[in-house]
Amino acid sequence: MTEHGKCHCGQTEWEVKLEDKSHVLCHCNTCKQLGGGTYSLNQIVPKDNLKITKGKPNIYTYYGDSGKAVRCYFCPNCTSHVYHHQEIMGDKIVVRTVLLDSGKNFKPSAEIFGKDRFGWEKEVATTFDVMPPSPNDKSRL
Ligand SMILES: [Zn+2]
Ligand SMILES: [Zn+2]
Repeated sequence: MTEHGKCHCGQTEWEVKLEDKSHVLCHCNTCKQLGGGTYSLNQIVPKDNLKITKGKPNIYTYYGDSGKAVRCYFCPNCTSHVYHHQEIMGDKIVVRTVLLDSGKNFKPSAEIFGKDRFGWEKEVATTFDVMPPSPNDKSRL
């Protein structure tokens, strides 16, 4: 299905093809710092599944635990994060599902970086300490 997303201010809009209406919760410390919440809501999709239909995101680059670059694409005006690309993931990107129009109806399908979960947060889906064991599983999230 194709979903439409919009940043907080409306200067950036996009469309993304998803396999299902689900969120992968990421509890990593970077997501906490970038998003200001206890976890982020995402889905991993092929790069070509995403099309920016309005505006042009800015890019913030940092280096992950692997030493490889992670590029965060965000609205230059309001700073809403649209998607991330980790060099280590090749042609896959991580889209922020919470910004999609129907995102509030999505269900959690998995939790990653469970090792960084705050002690008072309840488990709501299958949790992985870091990432699922095989790269094939990862592409399905
Ligand atoms: Zn914006
Ligand atoms: Zn994260």
